Amino acid sequence: MIDDIFCKIINKEVPADIIMETDEWMAFKDIRPQAPVHILIVPKKHIQDISFVKEEDRELIGKLIIAANEVADKLKLDKGFRLILNQGEHGGPLVPHLHVHLLGGKHLGAKIVADTN
Ligand code: AMP
Repeated sequence: MIDDIFCKIINKEVPADIIMETDEWMAFKDIRPQAPVHILIVPKKHIQDISFVKEEDRELIGKLIIAANEVADKLKLDKGFRLILNQGEHGGPLVPHLHVHLLGGKHLGAKIVADTN
């Protein structure tokens, strides 16, 4: 049985502050926000991480990006936002259920890729 914390939130066994939800994904507030707006966008299908994404998930993964736009519109993040996916030992994910972090609500800190060209 798959019982990671995000599956429990999706199944409404654990409460969360849900921002938006469709049949295929859920967006809820991160419990330890790292920015004024910190939302997790999570597919309802249990996919452990990026390495488990299959060709059949192509459309679903695209929908997570569209979901980010919809969440940003709903939360009026008209000045932009940042998306993060942590993967593997070096990325350091904690929850074994694919999720996109959406951060915003302020000018975010330094990027890993510098602005200079
Ligand atoms: P990651 O390190 O990429 O796996 O991120 C997992 C995120 O899930 C962290 O930012 C946690 O604060 C967040 N998180 C863990 N448990 C919960 C929960 N019950 N509700 C909302 N967010 C959670």
